[in-house]
Amino acid sequence: MVFRLVFLGPPGAGKGTIAQRLSQKYGLQQISTGDLLRSEVEKGSPLGKKVKAVMESGELVDDETVAALVENRLRELGSDKGFILDGFPRTIKQAGLLESAAKKLGLQLDAALDIEASDETIIERLSGRVQCTKCSKIYNLRSMPPKQEGKCDACNGKIVQREDDKPAVVKMRIETYRKKTAPLIEYYKKKKLLQVIDANADSPEKNLQNAEAALSKLKK
Ligand code: AMP
Repeated sequence: MVFRLVFLGPPGAGKGTIAQRLSQKYGLQQISTGDLLRSEVEKGSPLGKKVKAVMESGELVDDETVAALVENRLRELGSDKGFILDGFPRTIKQAGLLESAAKKLGLQLDAALDIEASDETIIERLSGRVQCTKCSKIYNLRSMPPKQEGKCDACNGKIVQREDDKPAVVKMRIETYRKKTAPLIEYYKKKKLLQVIDANADSPEKNLQNAEAALSKLKK
């Protein structure tokens, strides 16, 4: 099935994990702006050098830079394939830039999934989250640890804690989310695209089921 989705929700709610699983299941392209930007930082490219400090502080990279990255990805993807925009848009301005890009490329969003979890849950999850530096697969040292310590099950890459998952930065990222990104919930509600997903369960399977239940309601 072809779905064209946007994922909203606070850091640590499980957007990335749910997006990875749904992409595999439905053959969608996951487009995570966070992963794209981290890979630029890792490579030390001019873009990576420009965004490193902002990312490490827990604030947002500027709207035009991120929107251009996404537009390029969507153009490469073509109009037949479905996608999940994981972590984009993050501001009302970005939502407008996405709309213009989608119009240009002849694409239409099917839904915005708001992946929701309480502050308590997300702080607990972020403190245990680690990620593969090579393929971006996400693990949690408590609930979904890799089979071998420090090594990715999928590609054998190195697993690390993200710089911005350290406690001092997490607080800033939650604040940034509430101030700049949460207004998008109302924005997509008005467009009749919003689906709220409860992602508070300890079991990643249960949260995934909640997301799938929302997708099954979309007419295809
Ligand atoms: P994430 O992996 O989605 O939590 O993103 C990690 C960091 O990358 C964020 O805290 C921002 O600094 C930056 N970032 C990712 N997506 C965006 C976006 N759509 N707009 C601005 N900055 C972003």
